[in-house]
Amino acid sequence: MTSTAGVVVVGGGQAAFSVVSTLRASGYDAPVTVFAAEPHLPYQRPPLSKAAHTEPDGLRVELVPESFYRERNIDLRLGDHVVALDTAAATVVSRTGARVPYAHLVLATGARNRPLPVPGAELDGVHALRSVDDALTIGRALTTARDVVVVGGGFIGLELARVALTRGARVTVVELADRLLSRAVSRELELPLRERHEHAGVRVLTGTGVRALEGPGRVERVVTDREVLPADLVVYGIGAIPRDDLAREAGLAVDDGVVVDEQLRSVTDSRISAVGDCARHPHPNVEGLVRLESVQNAIDQGTLVGRRIAGSPASYESLPWFWSDQGDLKLQIAGLRSPSDEVRLVPGDSPERLAGYAFRDGLLVAVETLNWPAEHLAARRLLERRTPILAGDLAGPTLGALARARRAAEVRA
Ligand code: ADP
Repeated sequence: MTSTAGVVVVGGGQAAFSVVSTLRASGYDAPVTVFAAEPHLPYQRPPLSKAAHTEPDGLRVELVPESFYRERNIDLRLGDHVVALDTAAATVVSRTGARVPYAHLVLATGARNRPLPVPGAELDGVHALRSVDDALTIGRALTTARDVVVVGGGFIGLELARVALTRGARVTVVELADRLLSRAVSRELELPLRERHEHAGVRVLTGTGVRALEGPGRVERVVTDREVLPADLVVYGIGAIPRDDLAREAGLAVDDGVVVDEQLRSVTDSRISAVGDCARHPHPNVEGLVRLESVQNAIDQGTLVGRRIAGSPASYESLPWFWSDQGDLKLQIAGLRSPSDEVRLVPGDSPERLAGYAFRDGLLVAVETLNWPAEHLAARRLLERRTPILAGDLAGPTLGALARARRAAEVRA
């Protein structure tokens, strides 16, 4: 048992890693304990849905080797998870019975997959993707699958659809909303994106609900509102639910995520912070609170909390950005768009490139790009600096050109 109270982190993903690596890099020298429920060293999740993984050896996603934690005296408890927070005693209790006191507690518990709410979801051959183990299960199933039905046309669903296609399967995406990626991209960009998926060979059914999955123990059919689809593999990605149960049971404010302030401290107990997918927080680009599911958010929030605990507090203001690799489509998003923003679609300098510029009250707030990393990077640089970009500034030049022009003007000034 740890005698002096230091930092306890609950969770073993990207956000947790960011907290503990920042703490040590910032000179924090009290005890640091990490409870990671999975048996694996903290790893990156994005690669899991972007290729078919069949062998554990081929899946090298660990963020750093075990020696990293040992050399920095980080007590990494793999395969153990916290079952209760005793906020009065400032102690966590784990499944194996460990009681560890904390001076600061960081919740980095992430999110779980929203379960598929239909009969037959428990049949063999029906999978969701979150962990390394899920990725291996799906990767192996793709070795023999002929008819794959993907439920949910979000990031995960479309990434997996394209992976299944490259493995030679017939692939149908069943999406409940009237369009793909309704949470992530504008209607304007969705249209060409959908066309490209269909052109590549993915069958897309939007506005279609799944009623049941059927088969004798193993899935054989997906019954939708429109038709019955043959399926020997069903994968679903219909969104995530933040893991905020521990916080709720401990009496902390939760609202689809642990509610935190601009420094990411629980609004109920300032000795507790939340970072990554499980945190609902203020952000200068949104009214009210927001919960973001992205690697950028996990890394930046972990860094901010690690630095604060080590003595350098700041408010969370990082520009949100996202990416998704869907077969030959690289989708990148910088900034936060809201449904009422006006989006202008602009073709790039080659046929596969496309950008959508989102304006609010005439000011650029977000940029979506397809296969155009340079324009995405320019957007990030410009939006991060918070210098206003007007719709008129983009009548013709790309953001890349605009960024170069502004840099040149600064040099001259
Ligand atoms: P994920 O991270 O799982 O990809 P997203 O929110 O990006 O999550 O995408 C989930 C998609 O699943 C959304 O497009 C949403 O409309 C869709 N969806 C939600 N529930 C269902 C359902 N029951 N059947 C089909 N699609 C669904």
